[in-house]
Amino acid sequence: MTPEEILDTCRTQAVRLVRFLYCDNGGVIRGKATHVERLGDRIRTGIGLTVAMQAMNSLDQLQPVEGMGPVGEIRLVPDPETFTVLPYAPHTAAMLADHVRLDGQPYEAGPRNFLKRMAARLAERGMVLSCAVENEWSLASQRDGRYVPVDESLCFSTVGMAASAEVTDATVVALGEQGIQVEQYYAELGHGQQELSVAPRPAVRAADTQILVRETIRGVAARSGLVASLAPKPWPDQAGNGAHIHFSLWDGDGQRNLFHDPAGRFGLSRTAEQFVAGVLTHVPGLLALTAPSVNSYHRLLPKHWSSAFVCWGPDNREATVRVPSTFWGMEQASTNLEFKPTDASCNPYLAFGALIAAGLDGIERELEAPEPLAVDPATLLDREREAAGAHRYPTTLQESIRFLERDQVLLQALGDLLARSYLAVRRSEWEAYSAMAEEDRFRAHFLKY
Ligand code: GLU
Ligand code: MG
Repeated sequence: MTPEEILDTCRTQAVRLVRFLYCDNGGVIRGKATHVERLGDRIRTGIGLTVAMQAMNSLDQLQPVEGMGPVGEIRLVPDPETFTVLPYAPHTAAMLADHVRLDGQPYEAGPRNFLKRMAARLAERGMVLSCAVENEWSLASQRDGRYVPVDESLCFSTVGMAASAEVTDATVVALGEQGIQVEQYYAELGHGQQELSVAPRPAVRAADTQILVRETIRGVAARSGLVASLAPKPWPDQAGNGAHIHFSLWDGDGQRNLFHDPAGRFGLSRTAEQFVAGVLTHVPGLLALTAPSVNSYHRLLPKHWSSAFVCWGPDNREATVRVPSTFWGMEQASTNLEFKPTDASCNPYLAFGALIAAGLDGIERELEAPEPLAVDPATLLDREREAAGAHRYPTTLQESIRFLERDQVLLQALGDLLARSYLAVRRSEWEAYSAMAEEDRFRAHFLKY
């Protein structure tokens, strides 16, 4: 949309406030809104933001990071392509914003800038990563000061669909009004658990979409008097919420799926296998970006369909990378890979960007993927798993942070300032949340994502 079209839409739809949104190093969506009277200027100038925000953890505890103190400012500059009226917030619209330095250059610690850099590395090779997220979340109501699931329904059961029919309909309508194409919906395994997937888009737009989807799920539920939690493990005794990423690599004009080769194993090209090999090589450190909260590790357990061992395999829902079977007559269009160890507490710009960095490492070094596994790795003997290279994931955020600290490919991709601020924030979260009582720790994650 051009700035003029945006102002016109604001007038016809009586929009008063426009939120400039971003996602921070703690995976929290934050922003500032401008009154519509000042939007014409601020589309161009942005809104001021203290440099400290990328050093703020998800408990609003500011971390000591050089260059991110009380002195200094950047601008939140909105991307006009992302303008959307928010159907769940009265007279309000939103735009996804970039972090821009006062000299007009992209701020090095801006997550959206990072993903743009990674997309540009792919573009140099004539490649575009297309991504879509399958979000799972839990619908709850409050009873005696506690959050309880809205139903006790079974996996994919129509009882679960019926229990949440109104709020689901409002969610699907609200997503459609924002131009977000819904693919599938169902009531998932856990009590009150829902799942909805959206259509793939190029990586930066897909990350923008993920922010809007998270906002919509929570915003619509709140209007129905409910609470939607996308926390990775909302309750200790219920299924975890994944946010699996489906991805494929396309040529520059989006005509050819570079992951597809009818002659290859599972219909995958050599490029696809190298991408898988890169991702599997970097998984231990990658997790600190894709499953980045303390709560994430309560979800990543063997035999929970979340994946817990480093491996890949055809339609293997216990693998890090599942190769989904393709659809009849749409083999090229439906060839994609599913990355499972990720959840909605991640910053999608960082997660997608890190996935690109890991996959590109596989392509550039022409890495060979290990033997695919067609069994649940948890059913193998330890020595069989070791022989297959199917190592257990880090079991805490602290462990995955330690792997990220040693992963030069991911650190270099992030760049010095983003890496330093990210690690400071996540280390502090490990310290702060581990000091809490278990119940408080679960509750503290429940409302943030
Ligand atoms: N809820 C599972 C997870 O935590 C995923 C279940 C499935 O969709 O296969 O990832
Ligand atoms: Mg699911």
